[in-house]
Amino acid sequence: MSDPTTPLEETEARIARACTIAQRDRDEVTLIAVSKTHPVEAIEPLLEQGHRVFGENRVQEVKEKWPALREAYSDVELHLIGQLQSNKAEDAVALFDCIHSLDRPSLVKALGKAMEKAGKQVPCFLQVNIGDEDQKGGCPIGEVPAMLERAREAGIPVVGLMSIPPFDIEPAPFFALLDKLARENELEARSMGMSSDFETAIMLGATHVRVGTALFGDRG
Ligand SMILES: *Cc1c(COP(=O)(O)O)cnc(C)c1O
Repeated sequence: MSDPTTPLEETEARIARACTIAQRDRDEVTLIAVSKTHPVEAIEPLLEQGHRVFGENRVQEVKEKWPALREAYSDVELHLIGQLQSNKAEDAVALFDCIHSLDRPSLVKALGKAMEKAGKQVPCFLQVNIGDEDQKGGCPIGEVPAMLERAREAGIPVVGLMSIPPFDIEPAPFFALLDKLARENELEARSMGMSSDFETAIMLGATHVRVGTALFGDRG
């Protein structure tokens, strides 16, 4: 007779194991529970188990789901992991504690203005189009230094790089490349790794893993 383990406990155990193998401290890796599309009732059990860091990808959805949860759990940390339209920059600055999708000059401008207006510095990740894919968001690899410079000039605190590797290809080389780019640009944080590959990402230096399905099940 063993206690049933929750998806959160299972995921935590997998993260701990990957950290041990990689000879990293567990507290070097932040688990972002990606709750997009899942209702408040699915999120509450994780909060009750003590988890506080969550990821969402839509401003409107956050406005609907999170005010009451934030009221109940004041130390919640919300990360924006989805593409952001420039006209939603003020909303994003108001609603999120961290933004992972800074990826183009127009958004740098909009977020810089929004942060100044709100008097709130929101840490950002520069999203990199690591697989050089036409259809994907993210700044081209060759433009990373210039984008970082622009962000600094706009007063945006950039803490690291983020990427989503191409679908259905071994992700490890892309994680290694993101780690190298972060090192070259003297950035501390690497947001990489999802349900199917977060252990690999941790082995290759991830500081933030974005895990949805393994915690909440399929998004349907
Ligand atoms: C949805 C999403 C995730 C989570 O993906 P899972 O495979 O469900 O873990 C991570 N990162 C981004 C950018 C996402 O949009």
